[in-house]
Amino acid sequence: MTKYKLEYIWLDGYTPTPNLRGKTLIKEYGSFPSLEELPLWGFDGSSTMQAEGKSSDCVLQPIRVFPDAARKDGVLVLCEVMMPDGTPHPSNKRATILDDEGAWFGFEQEYFLYKDGRPLGFPSDGYPAPQGPYYTGVGFSNVGSIARQIVEEHLDLCLAAGINHEGINAEVAKGQWEFQIFGKGSKKAADEMWMARYLLERLTEKYGVDIEYHCKPLGDTDWNGSGMHANFSTTYLRETGGKAYFEALMAAFEKNCAEHIAVYGPDNHMRLTGKHETQAIDQFSYGIADRGASIRVPHSFAKNDYKGYLEDRRPNSQGDPYQIASQILKTIESVASEKVSAAA
Ligand code: ADP
Ligand code: MN
Ligand code: MN
Ligand code: MN
Repeated sequence: MTKYKLEYIWLDGYTPTPNLRGKTLIKEYGSFPSLEELPLWGFDGSSTMQAEGKSSDCVLQPIRVFPDAARKDGVLVLCEVMMPDGTPHPSNKRATILDDEGAWFGFEQEYFLYKDGRPLGFPSDGYPAPQGPYYTGVGFSNVGSIARQIVEEHLDLCLAAGINHEGINAEVAKGQWEFQIFGKGSKKAADEMWMARYLLERLTEKYGVDIEYHCKPLGDTDWNGSGMHANFSTTYLRETGGKAYFEALMAAFEKNCAEHIAVYGPDNHMRLTGKHETQAIDQFSYGIADRGASIRVPHSFAKNDYKGYLEDRRPNSQGDPYQIASQILKTIESVASEKVSAAA
């Protein structure tokens, strides 16, 4: 038997953006535990904005389990927060999202590494050389000395956990980076995104570095903001598609613009100004290979009879991938594909 360190991880009740929380349970198993072998656990919700003081017990329901390469005999246990009666806690958005196993999502998480209250590599006064060479850059003056080490260690932790990373890159601003996660169904990539965010924040503790997920940490300047582009496809979009269906879908996205923005992350008006890449927050547009649009249509999609995946560029770096995926599905499901293709 081995004493495993089970790190139960959940989202707290802070708004507009929940924080990740975790605590460790030690338990003996003959081998690495499966989800079914993990017990329910609890925590004091009055310390996490999830309960009043007098009846403060909240329940942790394990929903995904991952190896934790940073710890000897470590296990990462992603949980949903439940009420003592077994119903989902109001802060538990995952429990009620729309799902469809044919819907595939790829999220591009951008973020800043922050040290001493400013992006890693920024001088204590003023700014470094302007944006240009940092995106996908190489060399000490572009990326500094520890950023790449952090990013590489994070990648290895995520791969060891079985998280489906698809890539990483240095981003437009100094100290800004990106990773991409892909998954099938509304929950898989979203679960792994929250777990990857957790691993990044935990890893950077020892470097004295924080992760700044705000979508425009440098405010009203020309410095890049952070998004979390949501690439999506459904079985119908991949296999049938067609121009008429695509146009009906885009009309539905335009009609539901406000509902999308409501779950695409806080302070998004600071980022979606229409001045830089991506459309203004109150307007909707789409275009082939258009990085100034709300939705970018990849060349491959247009060339392939309007089949494949689309990129919603509006979600930001603090968005909740559960709610983003669910809203995209809701809008897609509002378009009756059979009717559109029959009319075409
Ligand atoms: P860019 O920076 O040019 O927008 P990235 O390579 O960073 O592109 O991200 C594109 C993402 O699209 C990938 O992470 C991938 O997961 C996702 N993707 C690719 N094909 C599909 C698909 N069929 N359905 C959903 N997402 C997809
Ligand atoms: Mn990208
Ligand atoms: Mn990017
Ligand atoms: Mn993108």
